[in-house]
Amino acid sequence: MLTHNLGFPRIGAQRQLKKASEQYWAGNITRSELFLTAKKIREENWLLQKQAGIDMIPCNDFSFYDQVLDMSLLVGAVPPRYTPVATDIKENTEIDLYFAMARGYQQQDLDITAMEMTKWFDTNYHYIVPEFTANQQFRLLSDKLFNEFNECQRVTGTIPKPVLIGPVSYLLLGKEKDTQPFDRIDLLKKLLPVYIEVLKKLEENGAIWVQIDEPFLVTDLTEKQKQAFEYAYKEIRKQCGDLKILLATYFEGLQENTSLAVSLPVCALHIDLVRAPQQIDEVVRALPPKLSLSLGVVDGRNIWKNDYSKSLALIEKAKAVIPEERLMLAPSCSLLHSPVDLDGETALDADIKSWMAFAKQKLDEINDLKQIAAGNSDLLKKNTAIIESRRNSTRIHKQVVKDRVAAIKDADATRNNEFTVRQQIQQQRFQLPLYPTTTIGSFPQTEEIRQLRARLKKGDLTQQKYESEIEEATISAIRVQEEIGLDVLVHGEFERNDMVEYFGEQLEGYVFTKNGWVQSYGSRCVKPPVIAGDVSRTADMTVRWSTFAQAQTNRLMKGMLTGPVTILQWSFVRDDQPRWQTAFQIALAIRDEVVALEKAGIKVIQIDEPAIREGLPLRKKDGPAYLEWAVKAFRLSASGVKDETQIHTHMCYSEFNDIMEHIAKMDADVITIETSRSQMELLEAFARFKYPNEIGPGVYDIHSPRVPTVEEMTHLLEKAAALLPVKNLWVNPDCGLKTRRWTETIAALKNMVQAAQQAREKA
Ligand code: GLN
Ligand code: ZN
Repeated sequence: MLTHNLGFPRIGAQRQLKKASEQYWAGNITRSELFLTAKKIREENWLLQKQAGIDMIPCNDFSFYDQVLDMSLLVGAVPPRYTPVATDIKENTEIDLYFAMARGYQQQDLDITAMEMTKWFDTNYHYIVPEFTANQQFRLLSDKLFNEFNECQRVTGTIPKPVLIGPVSYLLLGKEKDTQPFDRIDLLKKLLPVYIEVLKKLEENGAIWVQIDEPFLVTDLTEKQKQAFEYAYKEIRKQCGDLKILLATYFEGLQENTSLAVSLPVCALHIDLVRAPQQIDEVVRALPPKLSLSLGVVDGRNIWKNDYSKSLALIEKAKAVIPEERLMLAPSCSLLHSPVDLDGETALDADIKSWMAFAKQKLDEINDLKQIAAGNSDLLKKNTAIIESRRNSTRIHKQVVKDRVAAIKDADATRNNEFTVRQQIQQQRFQLPLYPTTTIGSFPQTEEIRQLRARLKKGDLTQQKYESEIEEATISAIRVQEEIGLDVLVHGEFERNDMVEYFGEQLEGYVFTKNGWVQSYGSRCVKPPVIAGDVSRTADMTVRWSTFAQAQTNRLMKGMLTGPVTILQWSFVRDDQPRWQTAFQIALAIRDEVVALEKAGIKVIQIDEPAIREGLPLRKKDGPAYLEWAVKAFRLSASGVKDETQIHTHMCYSEFNDIMEHIAKMDADVITIETSRSQMELLEAFARFKYPNEIGPGVYDIHSPRVPTVEEMTHLLEKAAALLPVKNLWVNPDCGLKTRRWTETIAALKNMVQAAQQAREKA
């Protein structure tokens, strides 16, 4: 059995690439300094993989920003607006054009917008969306791929396996940007010759295997898309018959696309057996005599040690039918989605650390599995002991928490009375005007605020001094809101580093890494907290700050919490129980906090769920089951309070059309959503659905420092009023204001309050 890897993290164990790129963008280091950092990272990664005994080492998995953008440059899909970057300014080279496409370009008289960015399937990685026009031309433009191939060969002394995104997936990842309507999949005929040119050139350079990623093979495909796959791989086979193509799929099972995938004329097929272990039987059965199978048994997207006996069972199933020379072992997907190296985690609890594996350790796991499959029982025994210790550890297993989840009743996820009854009670109680105004939670996280936290961590600031500084910031934010004339205030979230980490730090069951960084987009990395065990709440989490804030004002102060699905979605989760179980544990913890806030006199409580939509499975048919438990988790967290307590939720930029039924089922008294960038278009889904509860459609975009005018916002409010009952409308920005500065925040909110006043007068 050959071992191989689908890709390795390129940020560097110390995030060297992030630091170097940002220095380069700021003009502080030269291009060659940036290139040197990149080269060192690549070399380290390659040698690491070689030492780990990986037979086929990937190349071209390195990227300065994003692998999809790399493809756009490789095939010359550069939108025309970037032509001046490439031609007018003498100094620029390919890398500057590349960064201009990723980040936009503002220099001299030029102001060119960046390309769009969106989520990579159901991960937290974001890619740069290719832009296509009806008469799009492609040509081989970049040498990066070939340079890295040769470089890797020199460094490792082996023949690397270049990684490319397949032609069909590449087109499907993009967007049509033309006044003239067309289907981007029709560009395949023009794109393929460039792919074939690329493959031929790789072959000339000595390549034997090429990994072509076609993750769309695990999604719902139309007939036309299926035909595109058949056409593409037939052509490739016809023209590059000597090259061995390994077709990689990941993030889901092939399901009804199995027969299509195994019929494509390639040499090997890679399947994800972590996400979809059950597909092994069908794929093995369907595999034609000459096709090799790559078994993705090591989880490329999580931080847990592989359960070798489980993987071995999958390997044995394959071995029973397929000769070993036609089997390969690999991670489930690229290790891009894992942190780099567990060895750097010196502060982790020893037990918990022994249950973990980051990218570097996952390479060893692949090699271990190869040896175990060949009969090495010592390695298996050692692993079994570790897996057992995790399974039985009282450090993470809390029977009371499990019992409480098992005892959840439907009534626990239901408010006492239905919305119309609650609305009346709340109106009586709060006496809010029509078009009540509020904000989403955070106020500017200035450098000073961040410094406070850094100084506290370092020990330069006592806890007491830290808290009094945060109190001061909170009071001043409250005064600002009162002066502006907002109706429902927030405390500003100055005490929070991050909306998930803040809760994770206070919940039992969480652990934190020092260096568990994963690339989110470009130079931005995230360090998700780790849900290691049963989650429970041991003490109040937000009551101190919410009650402090409420005591400073006569106006209503919103309590501010992150919802269970968002906490789950933005953490590394357990792989030893279903996601819903973990979500319900978190939901009960948040529920207790909601009840504690109510008890402490907080009358309005917001539970943010911006990540509900991004948790949707890749297959449409799996959507309802997920939404069922996700909505129930939210309702569990929100339903412990009396009718007179108003529950808000907040969701960021998200399509609602196909999930309206579930949004309504969340049954929040008020939902605030991001709508300004779509000019209230997103609100139409709510109108069509006749959404019954109260809603605050965002009236201004918080991503830009621009101060919106009163007229713009009244205009948006008029649009909203035409769509939904005025008595249900709130007025608020799109999202939290933590990334803004105070000057623009105050100016924008003043205008927003004025717009609300004008709307009231007209109503
Ligand atoms: N309450 C959070 C804030 O205002 C919400 C952030 C979010 O939706 N991403 O910052
Ligand atoms: Zn938001």
